[in-house]
Amino acid sequence: MNLILFGPPAAGKGTQAKRLVENRGFIQLSTGDMLRAAIAAESDLGKQVKSILEEGALVSDEVVIALIDEQLTKNKGAAGFIFDGFPRTVGQAKALDELLEARGTAVHCVIRLAVDEKALLDRVTKRFEEQGRKDDNPATFSVRLEKYNQDTAPLVPIYAERGKLHEVDGMAGIDEVSSEIEGALKEAV
Ligand code: AMP
Repeated sequence: MNLILFGPPAAGKGTQAKRLVENRGFIQLSTGDMLRAAIAAESDLGKQVKSILEEGALVSDEVVIALIDEQLTKNKGAAGFIFDGFPRTVGQAKALDELLEARGTAVHCVIRLAVDEKALLDRVTKRFEEQGRKDDNPATFSVRLEKYNQDTAPLVPIYAERGKLHEVDGMAGIDEVSSEIEGALKEAV
């Protein structure tokens, strides 16, 4: 099962991905987590992307595609993959199709967490207090939201046309969102 969790920053993708990891044994592939780990390790990649993440801009397609490629190879034979925060551009979506096709598989299900953008700012302010992520401050968050609407939202009709898109109310409680996702997964092939 290859599942894309789709939605603006702070829509709850990470929370739901973690539940799917626990309940279904899927592997979570979060490009944001991978990039933050590289920054924490002060690797060459980390040094290269640090300021980009702090600004809320997008890292190049090439970099994130290579990270996903590496993880798909490393976790060959996994029960499922949850793509969290990837793909974020049309170029990344095309690359993901190719990476999966090369492995004899495809995107099976895309879950879009629909959220009220105004409520997101409250969520992100809370996350900033709890986790201290620099890019969760209101100014950077608005850049990230703008990037999402400009570069990532155009992927929604692409997956909808393919019949893979499931809309879930991301403003509902965590348990309710989880059960709606489970329902969508059962429908997906
Ligand atoms: P996230 O944790 O998914 O919100 O990602 C945090 C930050 O990492 C984003 O604001 C981007 O700077 C960068 N990032 C994560 N995933 C991607 C991606 N697929 N493409 C480009 N940049 C990304």
